[in-house]
Amino acid sequence: MGGVEGRGDETAAVKYKITLVPGDGIGPEVTTATTKVVEAAGVDVEWEVIDAGAVALERHGAYLPDSLLESIRRNGVALKGPVTTPIGGGFTSINVTLRQQLCLYANFRPIRNLPEVKTRFGDVDLVVIRENTEDLYSGLEHVVVPGVVESLKIITADASTRIARFAFDFARRKRRKRVTAVHKANIMKLSDGLFLECVREVAGLYPEIEYEESIVDNTCMQLVLDPQQFDVLLLENLYGDIVSDLGAGLVGGLGLVPGANLGEDCAVFEPVHGSAPSIAGKNLANPTAMILSAVLLFRHLGEFEKAQRVLSAVEAVYRGGEALTSDLGGKATTTEFTEAVVQHLVN
Ligand code: ATP
Repeated sequence: MGGVEGRGDETAAVKYKITLVPGDGIGPEVTTATTKVVEAAGVDVEWEVIDAGAVALERHGAYLPDSLLESIRRNGVALKGPVTTPIGGGFTSINVTLRQQLCLYANFRPIRNLPEVKTRFGDVDLVVIRENTEDLYSGLEHVVVPGVVESLKIITADASTRIARFAFDFARRKRRKRVTAVHKANIMKLSDGLFLECVREVAGLYPEIEYEESIVDNTCMQLVLDPQQFDVLLLENLYGDIVSDLGAGLVGGLGLVPGANLGEDCAVFEPVHGSAPSIAGKNLANPTAMILSAVLLFRHLGEFEKAQRVLSAVEAVYRGGEALTSDLGGKATTTEFTEAVVQHLVN
């Protein structure tokens, strides 16, 4: 696996070189929080810090410097804070470009309740798996005539089959019971129709896993009525983006849900949330989503015990209810929440 460097000495801790992208807005704050927690957990990491977004434009003249792609390709893994792409103005999204350039075809977002975080439902435990490289995110838009714009939705059999295999392999490995393919094939008969055709073919190879299909609008309603009925949700790119934010709302908000972008050669771990400019620089951001993204990263590297220690420390802070950030109705700052997690790790 890329990025894992043994020291060739069985008594020494394993050392990992990991690309770290602090990003924009609240990114640097939640990144600092996460590196402190990782250090307290005793994972031996050398972070290769690379700018992206507005900071990178200011310092290096590019939103997405070549050095970022080179670093992730070299290390194989990255932990990334949110990076904002300016709206309009002909900018291609930095996140979309990164996912396409590194062929991070699977976006993985586990949505679970945290202890004592008050939400409408308990026992939510679903996984959103989103195709990450095509659909309306292909960036193929043009003005046909003034006042008329065409935006192309690209769906291919290759990418649909690849993400379906990823979802069913994941379900098999984790003994998940059901995969639900979410679509709008009643309207987009050809594109979503092709997606479903590919998923059905893959589903046939996993007879032990229940397979069902659900129209995206109905899925959203079902999610807010009875989210426990879902297990693994498999979606195209745009539906996946929207449904995973909805899922974050079910368990307490964007500050809580981690994510991973996975490909054959590289993996980039990042929270579901964006740069939240309204609270940036105020020490108010909840770093949980970023810390749990690091948990996913360390599991990916095979550091299961360390990953579990971090997860347990975060859960202990929530169970104690002593250091909730303002998004959850508490008074703790980013720093105070982080310190509480660190205390659970070092004691
Ligand atoms: P983007 O369009 O960049 O993906 P988004 O739509 O996901 O962004 P965010 O910028 O993430 O939106 O945040 C929307 C709101 O959610 C913020 O204004 C903030 O109130 C809240 N929020 C997001 N992340 C956090 C966090 N880590 N801690 C506290 N509040 C957060």
